[in-house]
Amino acid sequence: MIESLLLTADQKMFRQVIRDWCQKEWLPRREEYLRAGPKEWPWEDVILRQMGNLGVLGLRIPEEYGGTGGGTVDQVILFEEGGRYQVPFPLTSISATCKNLAEFGSEDLKREWLPRLARGEMLGAYAQSEPDAGSDAPAMTTTAVLDGDEWVINGTKRWITNAEYAGVFFVVAKTDPSKRGDGIGAFWVERDRPGLTVGKLEELIGWRLAPSNTLYFENCRVPRDHLVFKEGGAFRRLMHEFNGERCGNSAFCLGYAEAAFEMALQYSQEREAFGQPIGNFQGIQWMLADMSVQIEAARHLIYHAAYNMDQGKNVAREAATAKLYTNEMVRRVCDDAIQIHGANGVSCEYRVESLWRDGRVLNFGGGTPQILRSRIANELMKRKD
Ligand SMILES: Cc1cc2nc3c(=O)[nH]c(=O)nc-3n(C[C@H](O)[C@H](O)[C@H](O)COP(=O)(O)OP(=O)(O)OC[C@H]3O[C@@H](n4cnc5c(N)ncnc54)[C@H](O)[C@@H]3O)c2cc1C
Repeated sequence: MIESLLLTADQKMFRQVIRDWCQKEWLPRREEYLRAGPKEWPWEDVILRQMGNLGVLGLRIPEEYGGTGGGTVDQVILFEEGGRYQVPFPLTSISATCKNLAEFGSEDLKREWLPRLARGEMLGAYAQSEPDAGSDAPAMTTTAVLDGDEWVINGTKRWITNAEYAGVFFVVAKTDPSKRGDGIGAFWVERDRPGLTVGKLEELIGWRLAPSNTLYFENCRVPRDHLVFKEGGAFRRLMHEFNGERCGNSAFCLGYAEAAFEMALQYSQEREAFGQPIGNFQGIQWMLADMSVQIEAARHLIYHAAYNMDQGKNVAREAATAKLYTNEMVRRVCDDAIQIHGANGVSCEYRVESLWRDGRVLNFGGGTPQILRSRIANELMKRKD
């Protein structure tokens, strides 16, 4: 089992700290926050102060820059708990923005920004997708042109998670529009730069406390040294880092499925029909058995990919496999959990439907199931033996 074979004592302790916070601080207020909605809930207190104090925001930031120096497995532990309790731990700030700056930023940028992000002074957001370029990211049209000692950025980014709350953006843009992936660079852009506007907040069916916005860049100028990645291999390296993001996304979905399963199991033991608990019927038992098998399979795939990533291995196929399987699994498992609840399953009074909605929303960021299948197939085709 993963419990005994893989997790270190420190990792088990980390999980317990996160679980305690989720149960004591988050759960009692979750419904109130959801009712308040993405603009009104006290996100600064919960995300910046409380999560900052927990050490969560600096999870992927090395200790020398004020973080806790955790790896992909630690990130998976955090997001699995995030899924179980439906906590909007800021996935893209932790795993894409901070991690990418720590990995590839200049010493000056790292010294200036990483300690502030780790302390919870602000959140980061990762801005790659555009209205007309999602899966086909190299088709992006946002440009960055060097003018003297500054880059001038123009374009529109869409679906940017936590842009509503972020203080800084990791922006992917074309430095050479005549090329596709090879003409791409990544820039560090503070929210208050003139020419950057944080626009419309999307109304999503789930993940509502991790809102997405559109960003508009109109002659937005950043200093020359805010180019984090040099064009050339930058895009390939960014895509490699996406493997960690995929493990994190999968972990959230695993947590949703676990929570839905626990609710369905309990409900099956309490709800009676034909004079006995519905859990006595083989039709229900087999649904529960299938749900349990799928959850266990997903957990192994995710932790295996995360563990190997931390060992420095290329996990392109493993991370895509984990995300593909878990994204589809969470939809099936939550749907079965709704079925076991009968009509109560589609009532908003029961949280089970919200787990399906949160899981459904996470099928897009980090690669859709179709793109992941292609990614896996590409890796298989590279095999020589
Ligand atoms: C909640 C949420 C948060 C997000 N957060 C961020 C973020 O923080 N930063 C960011 O940069 N982006 C973010 N995204 C955007 C996300 O990365 C894109 O939605 C994703 O890349 C898919 O792009 P698209 O939605 O434009 O779909 P499209 O690329 O237009 O695809 C539409 C459909 O066609 C399919 N398709 C496309 N190409 C192929 C192909 N070659 N073969 C088979 N099928 C194909 C897709 O699978 C999909 O089903 C977020 C999205 C959501 C929903």
